[in-house]
Amino acid sequence: MIIAEKISEVKKYIKEWKKAGYSIGLVPTMGYLHEGHASLIERAVAENDKVVVSDFVNPIQFGANEDLATYPRDFDADCKLCSELGADLIFHPEPEEMYGDAFYSYAGVNTLSEGLCGKSRPTHFNGVCTVVTKLFNISEADRAYFGEKDFQQLAIVRRMVKDLNYNIEIIGCPIIREEDGLAKSSRNSYLNPEERKAAVILHKALTQGKEMICSGEKKAETIVKTITEIIESEPLSKIDYVELVDSEKLKPVKTIEGPILTAVAVYIGKTRLIDNFFVD
Ligand code: AMP
Repeated sequence: MIIAEKISEVKKYIKEWKKAGYSIGLVPTMGYLHEGHASLIERAVAENDKVVVSDFVNPIQFGANEDLATYPRDFDADCKLCSELGADLIFHPEPEEMYGDAFYSYAGVNTLSEGLCGKSRPTHFNGVCTVVTKLFNISEADRAYFGEKDFQQLAIVRRMVKDLNYNIEIIGCPIIREEDGLAKSSRNSYLNPEERKAAVILHKALTQGKEMICSGEKKAETIVKTITEIIESEPLSKIDYVELVDSEKLKPVKTIEGPILTAVAVYIGKTRLIDNFFVD
């Protein structure tokens, strides 16, 4: 597996692969890889001739008071996993390589970026769209793989690709969970044992919400209230949001009529966790 730190190096390999007629799959990550990332890489390996995994803690998607400095990293372990899974190239640039000392251009998607995580992280999705655009252009990938764990991010990237005619197919992949239901996340490593136990409350509450929707409850307010009460029963939790939104514009709904996303963001101690479920 090739380890590349420079954009020019990646482009050199991509040029060779394109010339040989290979299809290219891209898996954008911030590293500290776990089974959730592995599921995306496995799918990319199965569906493409060559697979590029980017491993880059993207500074511009972090707000001023967020965890950029402490975000967990283990590049050696990431390389081992990517190589075992059959990835062809891992791209691990320094922030200077991606943004230099002056950077003036941003990509972004209105409306979809305003609600849910966008409310408490107003610059986050522009940072995501910008890095994703750069990675699409650098890798010239035919397909890019994203997890439904970050449903809003996936919806925004899909929208950007559609609106701006990017020449890439976006593939959404299901949420991979721990045995007790907690969605796998690099940030779970912040949790101490007591918080780790408490964190299962997100899944418990969402499961109850899902049962209500599947057994015919149509009032969003009733479902939000139940989910909120369950999460609040956990003393270590503090809710950022609990929302039911339509899956296209991601705007809150009053009554469930079509495909619906139920999404939560909750602090367990100081760690902000997100989870969701989608009912088609
Ligand atoms: P991150 O490194 O957290 O930026 O995530 C990189 C990609 O992996 C994103 O597309 C995430 O949605 C996806 N991902 C993270 N956790 C999971 C999970 N538990 N299941 C599926 N995909 C995930």
